[in-house]
Amino acid sequence: MDFKFTEEQLLIQEAARDFAKTELLPGVIERDEKQEFPKAQVKRMGELGFLGMMTSEQYGGSGMDTVSYVLVMEELSKVDASCSVIVSVNNSLVCWGLEKFGNEEQKQKYLIPLAKGEILGAFCLSEPEAGSDATSQKTTAIEDGDHYIINGTKNWITNGASADVYLVITQTHPELKHKGINAFIVEKGMPGFEIGPKEHKLGIRGSDTHSLIFNDVRVPKENRIGEDGFGFKFAMKTLAGGRIGIAAQALGIASGAYELAKAYSKVRKSFGTEICNHQAIAFKLADMHTQIEAARHLVLKAAWEKDQGQNYDLSGAMAKLYASQVAMDTTIEAVQIHGGNGYVKEYHVERLMRDAKITQIYEGTSEIQKIVISRAILEQ
Ligand SMILES: Cc1cc2nc3c(=O)[nH]c(=O)nc-3n(C[C@H](O)[C@H](O)[C@H](O)COP(=O)(O)OP(=O)(O)OC[C@H]3O[C@@H](n4cnc5c(N)ncnc54)[C@H](O)[C@@H]3O)c2cc1C
Repeated sequence: MDFKFTEEQLLIQEAARDFAKTELLPGVIERDEKQEFPKAQVKRMGELGFLGMMTSEQYGGSGMDTVSYVLVMEELSKVDASCSVIVSVNNSLVCWGLEKFGNEEQKQKYLIPLAKGEILGAFCLSEPEAGSDATSQKTTAIEDGDHYIINGTKNWITNGASADVYLVITQTHPELKHKGINAFIVEKGMPGFEIGPKEHKLGIRGSDTHSLIFNDVRVPKENRIGEDGFGFKFAMKTLAGGRIGIAAQALGIASGAYELAKAYSKVRKSFGTEICNHQAIAFKLADMHTQIEAARHLVLKAAWEKDQGQNYDLSGAMAKLYASQVAMDTTIEAVQIHGGNGYVKEYHVERLMRDAKITQIYEGTSEIQKIVISRAILEQ
């Protein structure tokens, strides 16, 4: 076993830490308050190569491994989980899906600018009546000569208004159920494609979440990803990797809150001593540190398995399930350690607590992760 990071992994971790401190931290409270999309920060992340981290250099990416990606996700999420979800969607769901399953023309046309951060992507699976049960797709894509005509509504789409390219999951052959589902690349501005109002959210408020409406949107056949009927497999395979990114996001939210709580406990005094000298507070820090380390090992193991070409369905689901629970538990305790100051915006931990909750919901709720895990272990 080798628990050491490579020189390259340490360098990218350091670069992400510096970037988060100098360019994400200033203004993070205001962006959260105003629900402001971090446009300038996303542009910078593109320049730094954070938006196409795992995409090969041939297609405009940084050609890094999944371990490097989760190290960056953790560092960004410690400070601004709204920015890290944008990174996660573009890397894991959009670029990875296109590099793995797209054809050469699609990679040339869409993947290269996406991986370079020149344009932004969105992944559109959820619908008003198809969340956890993603097989119940009501959005249709019907063949019409050289095109498919898409009709329907997608819900909760991250980068909903800011994206340029949307990977849209649709039903073409309802009689075939999930085997009739197709995935398409849809461009912003295609006639009939409308962006619905922005959701007013509890957390990750800088990221823009929208519903999308498709009214007879004509999409060329060459924009279908994979063979006819490949769409459900495409979505599931892509989400399996996406979970590792969200697990890393949860880990970052937890470790960000822990670091703030530890530092605060060393300066805040009560009853004549720093509060870290009260065993009740020290034990909270001990629990937080232990749980975060356990979550970190699960996240890195899943990333490592992906890099080794091994199956990571089980490890990715365990990492997301556990790290998201640790994010909730740790951020709640971080607020507690801050006392009244934990309840106001200046100290950051209340935002991290609100941000933590989404990691138990998107890219498969915790209940769905337990279904994935229990099925996998019962098959063994
Ligand atoms: C901020 C935000 C961003 C998002 N971004 C995206 C995005 O970019 N793209 C995208 O496609 N989607 C996105 N989503 C959607 C997200 O993935 C779904 O909300 C999630 O999968 C849950 O679906 P649902 O909301 O329909 O809940 P439901 O499926 O209705 O679930 C409700 C509850 O029932 C539980 N439940 C459901 N079925 C079962 C079962 N079989 N066994 C046990 N419990 C069950 C769930 O775990 C949950 O607790 C986003 C959501 C949010 C809030």
